[in-house]
Amino acid sequence: MGVDSDTLATWLAAYDQSQITIGVVASHSSLQILHGARLEGFKTLGIAVGENRRRYYRAFPGAEPDEWLMLEDYREMLDYAEWFRKRNVVIIPHGSLVEYLGSSNFRSLQVPTFGNRGILHWESSRERQRQWLEAGGCTMPKVYNDPHDIDGPVIVKYAGAKGGRGYFIARDYRDFRRNADLEGEFTIQEYALGCRYYIHFFFDPTASDGFQVQGRGSHAGQNLGRLELMSMDRRDEANVDEFYKLGSLRDLREKGLEPSFVVTGNQPVVIRESLLPRAFEMAEGTVAASFELEEGAKGMIGPFCLETIVTDQLEFKVFEISARIVAGSNPFIGGSPYSDINEPFMSTGRRIARSIKKSIAEGTLQDILS
Ligand code: ATP
Repeated sequence: MGVDSDTLATWLAAYDQSQITIGVVASHSSLQILHGARLEGFKTLGIAVGENRRRYYRAFPGAEPDEWLMLEDYREMLDYAEWFRKRNVVIIPHGSLVEYLGSSNFRSLQVPTFGNRGILHWESSRERQRQWLEAGGCTMPKVYNDPHDIDGPVIVKYAGAKGGRGYFIARDYRDFRRNADLEGEFTIQEYALGCRYYIHFFFDPTASDGFQVQGRGSHAGQNLGRLELMSMDRRDEANVDEFYKLGSLRDLREKGLEPSFVVTGNQPVVIRESLLPRAFEMAEGTVAASFELEEGAKGMIGPFCLETIVTDQLEFKVFEISARIVAGSNPFIGGSPYSDINEPFMSTGRRIARSIKKSIAEGTLQDILS
């Protein structure tokens, strides 16, 4: 169950839009979001469980929330919906919020939320993501429905595995049999060999200038809004990034060691400039396709990330999309080589706050919230 547009309109009609507070769960990309909100002149609210969480924000006065809501469990946020609305709160969602609340609780949270929560339905299943990304013209790694067909290196992804924990690499069917937990639900994907680029875009449906996304299908002939490139990162993943230093995969397996993909941090990167047109083409297609996913779809709003691998043939393979701010944007709290070209010091967190500020001024807040 989501929030329909009439309900959202009723809430916003009762809001004092000159007193909006940006609310965020204290984790993931919250420093960036809080810092950006403050730069754009908003009051801020931190939501946290445990004093330890709150305390370390004292070390970052530039991002420290003006107010805190301390909870025993993040799911209590559902009971505080009216409390949030009385304070004119707009929640900025990130991966940790969705994880802590659970996706169905997040979708039904009765508080105005930045972006389109309806997209979660498409993002939360690998099959639906594939449908969406391929409709947008992205090439994805091949999927093997039958493990006997494995004819090259694959990555086996278990359903519900968080941040790549529990994934494993197999070079052939024998390898797969040796390591697979056949009881679990998993997807076998071609292991795309190349370099990873996690590309952070921002789509502003209220802007009519800049790089305009061309509508498709029922929106053919329309400009849907402005697509911006904010930044790019590469994740540090333990222990796969350092695994090669210890010897061959075969030797290590004999010692019971498996590479794992647990994200521990992020590094800033840029991509060969000649690859940018294709990056924009994929992102434009993905945004345009988001408006065609279902009848009357509200489409993408705000930040999203295409998680890609560029092969030695200089081709992109997209293995995942995140339809909200990603923690990989954290190296760019002070701006990025791309966003600096347009406006220095523009993080994705600040870009979100800017978008809210502009929509308040233009009376279009409803168009960027759900
Ligand atoms: P998150 O939701 O945090 O993005 P996840 O659990 O959905 O993570 P993925 O992002 O799908 O996991 O994959 C985790 C990591 O595994 C990637 O960052 C990448 O290093 C590697 N990976 C995933 N798919 C592929 C692939 N097809 N080929 C090569 N490497 C891959």
